[in-house]
Amino acid sequence: MIKKLPKIELHCHLDGSVRLDTIIDIAKKENIKLPSEDINELSSLVKVPSNCTSLVEYLKRFDLPNKIMQTKESLRRISFELLEDAQRENVKYLEIRFAPMLHLQRELTISEVIESVICGMKEAQEKYDIKSNLILGCMRTMSEEDAILVINEGKKFLNKGVVAVDLCGPELEGFSSNFKNAMDLARSYGYKVTIHAGEAASENNVLDAINLLGAKRIGHGVRIKDKKEVYKLVKEKNIVLEMCPTSNVQTKAIDAYENHPFYPFYKDDIKVTISTDNRTVSDIDLSSEIDTMFNKFDLKRDDYKKIYLNSVDATFADDKTKNWLRSLI
Ligand SMILES: [Zn+2]
Repeated sequence: MIKKLPKIELHCHLDGSVRLDTIIDIAKKENIKLPSEDINELSSLVKVPSNCTSLVEYLKRFDLPNKIMQTKESLRRISFELLEDAQRENVKYLEIRFAPMLHLQRELTISEVIESVICGMKEAQEKYDIKSNLILGCMRTMSEEDAILVINEGKKFLNKGVVAVDLCGPELEGFSSNFKNAMDLARSYGYKVTIHAGEAASENNVLDAINLLGAKRIGHGVRIKDKKEVYKLVKEKNIVLEMCPTSNVQTKAIDAYENHPFYPFYKDDIKVTISTDNRTVSDIDLSSEIDTMFNKFDLKRDDYKKIYLNSVDATFADDKTKNWLRSLI
């Protein structure tokens, strides 16, 4: 039933959603040595184990995919395949995010990296009934100068595939103040802003992401449940939460699905949406994620419609795309 519904995904990392077969195939073609020849062993290197203890451990699963994402062709192919997989489960709109700085290990420039991903995205949009935009990720482990570099190089692709910026990677307390100038610059160019916050560190990061960085959406944000002031701000400003429950359970941001704040937030009219975070690393797709949450909390078709329409409003797409998405439900 879920599979047939039109779907929107706002939070999906490219490097966390590479097909395992593709990793093996690209490694062969580009003579990249993989740590193992055994598919089961490779699978365990890119999918989180059930006993994963933290976000930092979860993020280790990105090392191997990033190794094979260093050429124009591999980036094009992987972004095409992500949309190909998504359209199979009736995802109609997907915002792909990735950090260009992680793809400079061989011969590519930032601009070529972005262009290659857009190329795969366009190809999929021509072939399938799906639309997509890109969110450029800036690593919190890198400097503000690096973030500014990405923002400047991505500028020429704004509204030609690129729509927004994000800060991602391990979450420390108070990271926002290090990136204020970068995000001010991004907004002045016309980028929209979404920030990973309140996942592995406190709700104060959500407060800062909104007040200092101008975030309109927050990746995860589960910790806002811990402080009234932040919760109130998110609610009053209609900040959208890109919730990824399975990922949160795996990184131990939340101890069990049953305790995920998705449902109480939804009931209280916080703008919640559902995403996978990472299809391969978390070993899920959007249908299974929606199915899990709807079963856990006994949600109905009307609830789905409400969450879907929240997602339409929250996309960084143009009005034409939003109207098309609204017409599908
Ligand atoms: Zn994420």
